[in-house]
Amino acid sequence: MTFEDLGLSPSTLKGVADAGYTIPTPIQEQAIPLILMGRDVLGIAQTGTGKTAGFTLPMIDILAEGRAKARMPRSLIIAPTRELAAQVSDNFVKYGKYQSLSMALLIGGESMAEQEKVLDRGVDVLIATPGRLLDLFERGRIILNDVRILVIDEADRMLDMGFIPDVERIVSLIPKIRQTLFFSATMNGEIRRLADQFLMNAKEVQATAPATTATTVTQALIVVKPEDKRECVRRLIRAENLKNAFIFCNRKRDVDILFKSLTKHGFNAVGLHGDMPQPKRMEMLAKFKSGEAELLVCSDVAARGLDISAVSHVINFDVPFNSEDYVHRIGRTGRAGMAGNAITIATPYDSKALAGIEALIKTPIPILMEAAIEDLKVPMQSGDAPRESRGPRGGGRSGRPERGRGKGRSHAPRHDNAAAAITPTEFVEQPQQAALSPEQPAEPVLQQTPETISSPPAREPRPRPERKNSRHRDKWARDAGRMEHPEDVIGFGSAIPAFLQVAPTFPAPEPDDLPAHTDETN
Ligand code: AMP
Repeated sequence: MTFEDLGLSPSTLKGVADAGYTIPTPIQEQAIPLILMGRDVLGIAQTGTGKTAGFTLPMIDILAEGRAKARMPRSLIIAPTRELAAQVSDNFVKYGKYQSLSMALLIGGESMAEQEKVLDRGVDVLIATPGRLLDLFERGRIILNDVRILVIDEADRMLDMGFIPDVERIVSLIPKIRQTLFFSATMNGEIRRLADQFLMNAKEVQATAPATTATTVTQALIVVKPEDKRECVRRLIRAENLKNAFIFCNRKRDVDILFKSLTKHGFNAVGLHGDMPQPKRMEMLAKFKSGEAELLVCSDVAARGLDISAVSHVINFDVPFNSEDYVHRIGRTGRAGMAGNAITIATPYDSKALAGIEALIKTPIPILMEAAIEDLKVPMQSGDAPRESRGPRGGGRSGRPERGRGKGRSHAPRHDNAAAAITPTEFVEQPQQAALSPEQPAEPVLQQTPETISSPPAREPRPRPERKNSRHRDKWARDAGRMEHPEDVIGFGSAIPAFLQVAPTFPAPEPDDLPAHTDETN
């Protein structure tokens, strides 16, 4: 199928041809004819599937007829972040260059007076983040009675960011007779409820299965001690010769710390997070987009919608708390069919978040094999499902582990026990040691020492019921008695559970490494 088959006007087709696109993507193939027919559309599509052009192209044609009145936009696109809103507006400029549509972008952090001036002239397309739109509405600068097409983009992101009450309010201000296009990368109960509330007799279109990662992205994982993360990222940048990479942190504060740290070590980086003033955000983004800066250290504000071509790598400096953010982050690479790499730096404390991600993407993330970082790796603990490895330049196609050793085993991953990463912590004897069964090995009580202050607090030992079956108890006691004592485990008498014996010891942190909880940089 070609774009000519979709029913778009000659001028819009010219805009598409100028952009260099010849074949519509699956979401465009499905959505464009439906939107041109005036149908409501529920689109389940991640960024990178061409969904933005999927709704901007037909909108350009629909809006070509008619004129906007002052302060009364004819269509409204709500996007969760300023960057995404700006990108949608770029799409209108790019594809609509042979039409004369007027457009306004209402985003926080930009001059309100300028935005009001544009609105006063009348706009065909209004692209806005929810907060700024409601602000201008409350001031009486905008009237929504003339909106005939409403687009809600990245609905799941709106939900994550707590914007749904604002979105519901905005929708209540728009005429009921309208065409609604609702896009979300994932579909859960709440998103479905919103779709049912906002759409009428909608056609559902789907680009790929929800929350799947692009097959062109090779994924890999490395597990290191928390204090080795910055050293790890530096070595990765050098080893993989990164010239165009996103580096994601979970917290804005850590974005600042890592950005300063990388700059101090001579890397060409910029930083981006939601607390930065809008002009600064745009400046940083522009530097990265133009190639002036090679690394973009960012929070999840950059995870969705940002479309920067030829990003070779995404590095997760932190494992995201929210599994779906993982899919969005790594979607910044491997775009438009190009090959990409996503490397996640984890610590043994991230096992839960990692398990959530692997359950969502339905595949274990292979361990990275890269000579430069081998000595930083925290060994897997015995009893964990073995992980397949990814070679230094990608494993099998699509980054999935090769079949073989792990064949037949469950995809549900098991991770390291957090004890594996504990540094100079003392293990203190458990009172009920002798009463434990083999199925319930002793949990060490971890005494926090100054060196372990940045580690998560140790759990209080739960009282364990006495097992009735004394045969098990006796066997456990016998086996425990036969165990050798590793020299670095103290205070366990003769009963050391097997899983504690493989707990590695780590050298003291290097002096130039700062714990993640400080605001200084190394
Ligand atoms: P999106 O999913 O809207 O973020 O778009 C992802 C990327 O695909 C953007 O760089 C678009 O410019 C590009 N793109 C959109 N449509 C096509 C197409 N039909 N062929 C090739 N690339 C496209």
